[in-house]
Amino acid sequence: MLYVLPTVLLLFSLAFVIVWAIEKLRFYLLWCALCFFCIGIGMLSQLVDIPVDDGNNTLVTTTLYVVGALAGGHGILSRSCIKIPFWFCILSFLSIIGGVAYFIYIRPSLIGRIYVVNFGLACMILTYVCYLRKIVNGRKADKLIVGMLLLVGIHFFPRTLLTVHSITDDTLVDFAFTSFWQWTVFSTAVAVVIAGLVLFAAASSDRFEEIAHERDSDHLTGLLNRRGMETHIKALRGRDLSGWIVACDIDYFKTINDDFGHAVGDIVLKEFSGVLQSLAQKSKFIARSGGEEFIIYLDDYSADDAFLLIENVRESVKKLNLSSLGIGENITCSFGAVKLVRQDQFALVLERADKLLYAAKKAGRDRTLMESLTS
Ligand code: GH3
Ligand code: MG
Ligand code: MG
Repeated sequence: MLYVLPTVLLLFSLAFVIVWAIEKLRFYLLWCALCFFCIGIGMLSQLVDIPVDDGNNTLVTTTLYVVGALAGGHGILSRSCIKIPFWFCILSFLSIIGGVAYFIYIRPSLIGRIYVVNFGLACMILTYVCYLRKIVNGRKADKLIVGMLLLVGIHFFPRTLLTVHSITDDTLVDFAFTSFWQWTVFSTAVAVVIAGLVLFAAASSDRFEEIAHERDSDHLTGLLNRRGMETHIKALRGRDLSGWIVACDIDYFKTINDDFGHAVGDIVLKEFSGVLQSLAQKSKFIARSGGEEFIIYLDDYSADDAFLLIENVRESVKKLNLSSLGIGENITCSFGAVKLVRQDQFALVLERADKLLYAAKKAGRDRTLMESLTS
């Protein structure tokens, strides 16, 4: 039975490698694999007594546990783009290994070793929780990981304090059969299964979010696409709205493609959307609804403020020196804006904004028409 836990750890390790190998994107999974591998091998070496010498065995297994905890911590933190400081790795390693060596060679004490290893690992894991505190209010997967680390970190304390009395420093015991070790195996099994499942759940959740992001964004400009825009609008359900749906279209864009080529047209679209984003930073969202057409949603804007902002965008675009086009080559764009007061009228309002945009085109382009100002 005692061999079940290291086997589970090694299987988890293999599973992390397999999941990583599917896309080779989430490199942190390899660190998680290394974590489970080291702890699994550490437990195995403790169970089969290799190395045979008690002191060496403790040093080897402790080293494997600490390296495993560092690898796991590095993996989990790098998932959130946080780096563990190098001094922390060195400090953890030296203090735990040094403490264990002290209780082997200088003041032999089995209980001393147990406290150093268990509390040392607990402190390391709880430090990771501190590093991750900024993301605790973030996504569900982040919360789950922080909760799991907290649970795993804290569980070392009661299990050590409550069960360590089954071991005394004076009696020679077969460590693997002490109630301390059996409790440790049991609680570690629970912690490992929870940790493994949480990390797999987080990896799948990360992937689902990426897929949803890819589905909702425009590949060329990075803005929302039509579907992403609809998702954002749905999220406004039930709110009193006082926003503006602004339809925007680049004037004579076809001639850019004809004169400079499609590739340059693409660059212009990218540059234009970057400018749109920087100028309309206060907008709730900007979407590329198709070809060279964009939708901006301005939330909580009075008619005058919305008009001013759109005109500012229009004038700035006109003065832009787009690096992809030659000197003196400028673009203009036209706008149609309609007030949105209810989320369920979005489709209707979008249609009206489109009609206004085409009225602006007919009236000579390079202008803004707003429903409240025109009707
Ligand atoms: P108007 O002032 O009436 O809007 O004229 P326009 O030339 O901008 O409009 P039109 O609808 O005639 O042409 C739009 C062009 O946009 C045609 C199409 O080839 C081009 N287009 C659509 N999507 C893309 C794209 O992703 N990349 C590039 N380079 N061109 C695109
Ligand atoms: Mg156009
Ligand atoms: Mg168009």
